Amino acid sequence: MATISQKVFTRASGSEVILEPGEIVEASIDYAMSHDGTSVLAIKSFKEMGSERVWDPERIIVPFDHQIPANTDVAATLQKEVREWVSVQGISNFFECGTGVCHQVLPEQGFALPGKLIVGADSHSCTYGAFGAFATGLGATDMAEVYSCGRLWFKVPQTIGITVKGDLKPCVSAKDIALKIIGDLGADGATYKAVEYTGQAIENLSISGRMTLCNLGVEMGAKAAIVPPDEKTDAYLRGRAKEAYSPAFSDPDSYDSDIEYDVSDLEPQIAFPTRVDNVRPVSDFEGTRIDQVLIGTCTNGRLEDLEMAARIIKGCKVAVRTLVIPASREVLMEALKRGIIAILVEAGAMIGPPGCGPCLGAHMGVLGDGEVCLSTSNRNFPGRMGKGGSVYLASPATAAAGAVKGFITAPEKN
Ligand code: SF4
Repeated sequence: MATISQKVFTRASGSEVILEPGEIVEASIDYAMSHDGTSVLAIKSFKEMGSERVWDPERIIVPFDHQIPANTDVAATLQKEVREWVSVQGISNFFECGTGVCHQVLPEQGFALPGKLIVGADSHSCTYGAFGAFATGLGATDMAEVYSCGRLWFKVPQTIGITVKGDLKPCVSAKDIALKIIGDLGADGATYKAVEYTGQAIENLSISGRMTLCNLGVEMGAKAAIVPPDEKTDAYLRGRAKEAYSPAFSDPDSYDSDIEYDVSDLEPQIAFPTRVDNVRPVSDFEGTRIDQVLIGTCTNGRLEDLEMAARIIKGCKVAVRTLVIPASREVLMEALKRGIIAILVEAGAMIGPPGCGPCLGAHMGVLGDGEVCLSTSNRNFPGRMGKGGSVYLASPATAAAGAVKGFITAPEKN
C-alpha cells in the first residue's frame, strides 16, 4: 500500500522497493524553479559553493514575477544580473516580466506534470500538486544545491487524505473549501505531511480550482498538496506537456489519516488578520470597512476568477480602489477576448501587469498605515501587503462583492 508521494519518491530516488513514510532519501529533481526574488540568493549560493555550470539548463525555469517591472534601481540591477546568469548558463526557460506569476507560468508552459518531482524556491510551489505532481518549496540555498547537481534529500512524508463531498452553492468556490479546511486544521495541522484531496467535490473542480486548493496547502504546513490526475488534467496538458508523464495514484487505505468534508452547505469563508487559519464565515464580518480590493495572485488570478468577479461587478461602479492583476499574459489575453477586462475597467477597476502585484508588499498597491485590503491572495500576516495594513483573505466572488459595496459582504447578497 503506497501513496502518490511514496511512489514519486521511490521513482525519483531509484529505489527498487517502495519507500515508507519517514525514510530519508536523495531524489532526482524533474524541474526546478526560482523567480526574480529568490534567484538572486540561489545564484549567490551557487557561486559560493564553487559551482560553475547548472546540472541541466532544460530543467530549470526562471520566471520574473515578484517585483515587476522593477520599481527601484536596486531591483533593476539585481534583475539584470539574474538575466545575465540565465543567459550564461543557457537556461532557455526564462520568462520575462509580464509572462505571469511563477505558479501560473509553470502549468501553462507544461512543466507541472503528473508523477513528477518539482521544487521551487517559493513556498507556494505546492500549487503544481493540482496536476498530480509532488511539488514543494525550498529555500534559495537548497535551490543552489539543486541547480548544481539536480538532487536533494527529502523525508518521505505521511499523507493526510481529505475527501470532499457535496455540490458547492453558487458563489462558493475552491478558495472557500481551502479556507474552511485551513481554519479547522490550523496553520500547523499538516506540517511536513502531504495532503491528498479526493471526492466528488474535488473531481467537479476545474483545474483552476484545484490549483487554488493546492496553492493554499502550505498555509497548513503541508509539504505538498495533491489532487490525483484525471481526464481534466490530461485535457489541460494536451499540447502543453513538456514531456511524457506517468501518473502515480495512491493505493486504497494507504493514507496515514483520513478526514471527510461535505461542502453542500458551505458558506463563503474569510481569513481575518493576522493568520490564515483565522477563518470564519464571511457573514460574521458583514459591513467591515475596506480601503482596497485585490483580485489576482497565484491563488486566484486565473480566468475563472476574473470571470466570476466580472459577473458580480458588471454594470456597477466599484466603491473602493480595486486592483485586478491577471495571473498571466495568457489569462489577460483570454480575459480581453471575452470582454471581462472591459467590464472591470468600466466599473473603475485598475488592471496591473501579470505578476504578483502587491501580494508580497513590495510595490504596486501596498497599503497605507491602518488601511484594510480584501484580497484573493493567500497570506494576511502583519505587514504582508505594506507596513500597518490589514488583509482579509477571501474568494474572488467575495472580493468582487466587497469592491461594489465598499465593505465586506457575502457575495450572494450583492
Ligand atoms: Fe508569492 Fe503572492 Fe507571488 Fe503567489 S502571488 S508567488 S503568494 S508573492
